[in-house]
Amino acid sequence: MLMCISHNNNNNINDNDSLDLYSVSHKTRGRFTQFDECDKNKYIATRMSVCRGEAELIEVLGRSKRLLFEEFLNMYRDEVLRMSARTAFPEGWLATLKYIPVQSCFHARQTCLLCFPSTVYQQCWCHRMCSVVEEAKSVAGVQGSITMAREAMLQQLIKNPERLKDLVDEAKDVALLSGLVIRTKEMANSSEVVTYYPFSLFPTPVPKAAFLQALAVQTHFNTLVDKISQDPDFLEEALASTIQADDFTAKLFDIYRHVQQEGRSQSIVVGLLRSDYMLDQGEGKTSSLKQIEINTISVGGFGVADCLPEVHRYVLRSLGLLEESKCVPDNNITPKMCAALAKSWELYGQKKAVIMFLFEDVKTSIINHRCMEKELCNRNIPVIRRKFEEVSRRGSLDDDKKLFIDGLEVAVVYYRTGYMPEHYTEKAWDARLMMERSMAVKCPDIGTHLAGTKKVQQVLTKPGVLEKFFPDQPQVVEQIRGTFAGLYTLDMGPEGDKTVEMSLAAPDQFVLKPQREGGGNNIYGSDICQVLQRVKESTERTAYILMDKIQPAPVQNFMLRRDFPLQIKNCDSELGMYGVYVRQGKDTVMNECVGHVMRTKSSEISEGGLASGVSVMDSPLLL
Ligand code: ADP
Ligand code: MG
Repeated sequence: MLMCISHNNNNNINDNDSLDLYSVSHKTRGRFTQFDECDKNKYIATRMSVCRGEAELIEVLGRSKRLLFEEFLNMYRDEVLRMSARTAFPEGWLATLKYIPVQSCFHARQTCLLCFPSTVYQQCWCHRMCSVVEEAKSVAGVQGSITMAREAMLQQLIKNPERLKDLVDEAKDVALLSGLVIRTKEMANSSEVVTYYPFSLFPTPVPKAAFLQALAVQTHFNTLVDKISQDPDFLEEALASTIQADDFTAKLFDIYRHVQQEGRSQSIVVGLLRSDYMLDQGEGKTSSLKQIEINTISVGGFGVADCLPEVHRYVLRSLGLLEESKCVPDNNITPKMCAALAKSWELYGQKKAVIMFLFEDVKTSIINHRCMEKELCNRNIPVIRRKFEEVSRRGSLDDDKKLFIDGLEVAVVYYRTGYMPEHYTEKAWDARLMMERSMAVKCPDIGTHLAGTKKVQQVLTKPGVLEKFFPDQPQVVEQIRGTFAGLYTLDMGPEGDKTVEMSLAAPDQFVLKPQREGGGNNIYGSDICQVLQRVKESTERTAYILMDKIQPAPVQNFMLRRDFPLQIKNCDSELGMYGVYVRQGKDTVMNECVGHVMRTKSSEISEGGLASGVSVMDSPLLL
């Protein structure tokens, strides 16, 4: 026999000795409801007894069952006392019938699952609690109940290291099975030895509304980036001060100008973007979605993001959290990203022409490239891989500006490099210019690359700028602007001076950002003061922008990383949405949001990053 607590209201009596699962009402205090198996896993609550004291309880349950019940409640009481500060138990186990709050049913369920993992209890709780949980959700609210179940389970695992270890081992095995694989640091150039891609043991709760908001706004961001890339006046004005101070942006901009002056030779455009967000907790209780940045070149993470939902679902199911496992959304990003590349290749219209992956030092991330190559191979699209240096030595343009390398015509150049100054030598800059001038479709072209700079992100927050790109679409403007955090100019002049003052006064509230991609470049806390004190009087400061620091509410999780001790940590997560679009001249051929990624890091660390090993892959648990 098992007992649980629910909010059930039923009060009819239907005594039946064969019953094995009971529920005690929260609302009606002390009323017993019997759960009777009907078909498979579904239980119908049949009405039972009203019980207000021990005598009655014995009468209803029989002495042996009463003893079991008592035993269970004792165990359960400890759990609740330990886990929930809000739950004060009056003396005596019977009193618990009256005072156990509805959320305790989750605690009880987790307790049983963990205490008796391989016994009939687990089966009972896994399969039969569904209806109880469903009922409780309607009282606690679905959001509350899912979060509670997750939290309770985490607490239980901390208490039960053996079970935790088993679960972690299981999760790693399933991760490998699902394709969550990365080369090791020690053998970065070889796939002879691989390990699991770092990931969180649990998915992280995300309000469904915020997730849907990010999803819905993505196609507008796609359009916005595409419009910016085609607007030389805007880019010129937006980046005017930055290119004075930042050599890397200046070099990119020179290429843009060159191509504009010469006249663009290719009207097909393909964009593979990722817009990153955090949930800002702010002062109030509700969190709001705030964009960290939009990436327009070499976005990664999608191969792993495709594999992870099934791992997290497995973990939740293995703990009996069946309903919760349904709240981990699926991902199918790689095929959709490849569909966009394939579409641009098809529009190029030369069956023998190749898609060229431009790469530099892939090492551990090679498997992520391979998932795309495999997908394109399945579509019978020829793919080659080349480095800047090879393009510079062996690439050429013919009279029609068609791009050739090693005797192969290139239909699409797909950049998986070129977003950091370190990726370029003088020869590499020449190669980039040649490719940008060519007939090949570029993913991204130089204008799209520049549209992803942090300076452009800051300029977009200025009043009237979004309206210029969407003159007749105030709802679109509102949707996009709704995701903006505070961003501030450091241009020379009174506005920039104000930004300097503001950040020196409260450096912990801001992030100082140079025009760099790839992680590890931003400046936080007292370092902001150091940098700004040095550059505040010179145009050097215009290489940076200032941004409000997003303050997400920390969520506990275990981060599974090779060679790192297993510890529960307070974590912050970043949600990314992938967008793809293809345009030919004025015709939009494709514009979609194709999936999401979550990356989670310890809250103690300011800046996340998968490459740096700080962040792990995660999934949203939609509430
Ligand atoms: P990069 O182009 O190098 O990836 P990002 O702007 O994405 O630069 O910042 C890198 C990381 O720094 C983010 O993934 C996030 O962890 C942290 N970060 C960036 N901006 C903010 C912010 N405004 N508030 C809090 N954390 C931030
Ligand atoms: Mg980033």
